[in-house]
Amino acid sequence: MTPARRVTTQELLGRLTFSAEPWMSCDECFEAVDGYVEMLLAEAPDSIPGLRAHLAACSACLEECRSLLLLAAADAGVDPGRALERLGNA
Ligand SMILES: [Zn+2]
Repeated sequence: MTPARRVTTQELLGRLTFSAEPWMSCDECFEAVDGYVEMLLAEAPDSIPGLRAHLAACSACLEECRSLLLLAAADAGVDPGRALERLGNA
């Protein structure tokens, strides 16, 4: 008989769920988002997977990144469409 089994499963599920959360903090995201935006605009391969995972789970940072992307695109005089599309798939 294993009365603790159910609890253990719940804990494991909790850890699994937690492991899907971004390991990158919002501060770290903020530090890296400039480079990420440049990368998106350059249509370069995604080389910051932690950031992508963070944006997928953090709407505040995603919004920040989107605003930055629009500003950077306007600054560079490029169409942000494709980059926005990639960001939307984050
Ligand atoms: Zn965040």
